[in-house]
Amino acid sequence: MKADKKTDYVAPVDDRGRKAVIDIRDITKVYKMGDIEIPALRGVSLQVYEGEFISIMGPSGSGKSTMLQILGALDQPTSGEYYLDGVNVAKLNDSELAAIRNRKIGFVFQSFNLLKRTTAQRQVELPLLYGNGRDRAKRARAALESVGLGSRLNHMPNELSGGQQQRVAIARAIVNNPAIILADEPTGNLDSRSGTEVLKIFQEMNRENGITTVFVTHDPFVARHTDRMIMLRDGEIVADKVVPDPYIAGTVERPSEASELEGVFRETYYEAPTEAFN
Ligand code: ADP
Ligand code: MG
Repeated sequence: MKADKKTDYVAPVDDRGRKAVIDIRDITKVYKMGDIEIPALRGVSLQVYEGEFISIMGPSGSGKSTMLQILGALDQPTSGEYYLDGVNVAKLNDSELAAIRNRKIGFVFQSFNLLKRTTAQRQVELPLLYGNGRDRAKRARAALESVGLGSRLNHMPNELSGGQQQRVAIARAIVNNPAIILADEPTGNLDSRSGTEVLKIFQEMNRENGITTVFVTHDPFVARHTDRMIMLRDGEIVADKVVPDPYIAGTVERPSEASELEGVFRETYYEAPTEAFN
């Protein structure tokens, strides 16, 4: 373990010797709308270790997107601490936040967030404009090839299917070699076949390249493909479980709704809140 020079913060390590790249402690987030205060997170602590593939589940309004935005340094918490790869996020100013996001984090959203009238190649080059621009075109092409879009480089978003658009967004998220991928319902707008393709890409990036991945979903079948499942409810973590034998994307049929629900109830809902495991 190596203490960070500036904060003497020491990242926790799990039982496999992996360092926490995300370490939030007692985070709260209160949105203010005029006189009304909306508590979206009510004291959340979580450590995500290098190389983990975790899903954040929970009903609509439970705070999943809020949490992901804080994890991605897109928004600051109302209170609590956040160390991202050893850096105290609360101490950063806006330009330092932008720099850390650009260097360390790749985002993927439910609605793809692609620019219109911009080719796939160009979309993926954009994150490289901020840094050292050498080999920009080549790196963008390689990222697109790695998500199976090597033959779609000059297509505009409206010339691509939903699944292909999401793969462009994934290529854009990984082109900078981020340490962490954060994805907010990335399969939420896709049919099940495209969803499986996208899930497969996330799983392969995690397993083959060791990219730490945090995946928000409300689909228990999707979560079943990750290594660890966090359940949020009303702004609190109510369960934190290792997924036994995660499914390999594309190899398992989606179960019927009834058995799927039964499995989730058995695995998560009836469980008393667990201690965050370390
Ligand atoms: P989820 O992604 O699980 O559906 P969110 O994080 O989007 O949940 O929302 C959590 C709570 O915070 C909800 O009650 C939501 O209405 C509220 N909320 C989210 N974003 C804002 C915002 N920008 N301003 C005010 N309230 C918000
Ligand atoms: Mg959401």
